Amino acid sequence: MVKPYYGQLEEEKVFKDPVHRYIHVRDELIWELIGTKEFQRLRRVRQLGTTYVTFHGAEHSRFNHSLGVYEITRRILDVFKGRPNWDEDERLVALSAALLHDVGHGPFSHSFEKVFDTDHEEWTREIVLGDTEINQVLSNVSPTFAQAVADVIEKTYANKLVTSIISSQIDADRMDYLQRDAYYTGVSYGHFDMERILRVMRPMEDQVAIKQSGMHAVEDYIMSRYQMYWQVYFHPVTRSAEVILTKIFKRAKELYDQGYAFKHKPNHFYSFFDGKGSLDDYLRLDESITMYYFQMWQEEEDRILRDLCVRFLNRKLFKYVEFNPNLQMNDWLVLQDLFQKADLNPDYYLVVDSSSDLPYDFYRPGEEEERLPIHLLMPNGKLRELSRESEVVEAISGKKRTDHKLYFPLDYLEDEREYKEVKKKIRDLLNV
Ligand code: ZN
Repeated sequence: MVKPYYGQLEEEKVFKDPVHRYIHVRDELIWELIGTKEFQRLRRVRQLGTTYVTFHGAEHSRFNHSLGVYEITRRILDVFKGRPNWDEDERLVALSAALLHDVGHGPFSHSFEKVFDTDHEEWTREIVLGDTEINQVLSNVSPTFAQAVADVIEKTYANKLVTSIISSQIDADRMDYLQRDAYYTGVSYGHFDMERILRVMRPMEDQVAIKQSGMHAVEDYIMSRYQMYWQVYFHPVTRSAEVILTKIFKRAKELYDQGYAFKHKPNHFYSFFDGKGSLDDYLRLDESITMYYFQMWQEEEDRILRDLCVRFLNRKLFKYVEFNPNLQMNDWLVLQDLFQKADLNPDYYLVVDSSSDLPYDFYRPGEEEERLPIHLLMPNGKLRELSRESEVVEAISGKKRTDHKLYFPLDYLEDEREYKEVKKKIRDLLNV
C-alpha cells in the first residue's frame, strides 16, 4: 500500500485567535496550505474592505477569517464523527474547502470587481486549479483532489452535505464572519451561542440540520445577522468610502483609456485596464500595493483622480441624503445639470448607491441564491423549514428593504468662493 503523502503532524499546531481562542491544526495538508504564498497573501486583504473608516477596529484580514472558517468546520466535523450520513473520507476535502473558500479575494474586492468586471469566485477556482503553490499541495493528495475542493467551493460537489457545512444559510463561513466582524468592529450585535449550535447540528443525507431543541440559538444567529447587515455591512459612511474607491478605479481606467500620461504609472493595473489580467497579475495585487498607488496619485495632474485619492486617504468622504432616483427622476436630471454648471463632473461627484447592490440575505427561504434554507430536525425525525416553526424568523423573512442614498462632496458645495449661486441651488435642492 502506498503511504498517503500527508498524514498527521507530529505535534499539533495552534494559532491564538481572539474569536475562537485557539485554532487547531493537526493535518499536514492544512499546515502546508496555510504556508503557501497565495494563502499568505490574504493577510494583506482586509475582510471588511472600507469598513475601517467607520469602525476603526475593523482592520482584520481575510487570512484571519479563513482560519476561523477552517476551525469552525473542524469543530463541526468532530460533532459529525461516527454519525450516520457522515463519511469520514470527506473530512480533508471539507477542511481544505473551508480554508480556501475566499482565497480569490483581491484588494477591496467589491469596488475592484465592479470596475474591472472580474469575480473573486472565478479567481478562487483558478488559484485552486491553476499553476499555484496551493494546487501543488492539493495535487499531492491525489490527482482529483484539487477539483473536489473547487467543486465544494462552487457548490457543485456530489456530496451536498459537505457543501452545506461551508455554504448554506447556517454555515461555518457565516458563523465565523458574524462573530469576527462583531469582535473587530466592537459592536454589540453579532453575538450568538455558537457552541450550542455546533452541538445540535446533525448530518442529514444532503444537508446539515439543526435539532429542534436548538431553535432559539438559531433565532439568535439570524437576528444577529439581520442587525449586522444594517448596523455594520450597509453603514452609509462605509458606503461613502466605497463610492470614492470605486470612482478612483474608474477614473484611473478612464485616464488610461484616453492615453493620459500618469506621473506614477500604474504598472500593476495595466492588464486589468485592458481587461486581460492574468492569474499572476492578480496575485501581485493586494491592499498595500493599491494604497501605494492612491498615495502616489495624490500628486497627479488630473484633478479628479488627485482629489478622489486625497479624499480616500484623508477620510474626506462624501455626504449623503436619502434619494431614490426612480421616484425623483426630475430632481436627478436637474442635479446633473447643476453639478456640471458648478464644475463638478456628476459621473464622479454625484453618485446613487443602493444597498441592495450588496449581498442582502440574512434570511429569505427559497428566494435566495442557491443557499439551502435552514431545516430543523423534529423529534419525529422529519425536517421542517425554520420559518414555519419560528415566529421570530418568520417575522423578518423575505422582507427586502432597499436603501438608496445620494453621495456628493458637501465641502465643495459649501465653499462659496466660486459658483456661489449654483452651489446654493444645489444645497437647497438637496436640503443640506
Ligand atoms: Zn468567507
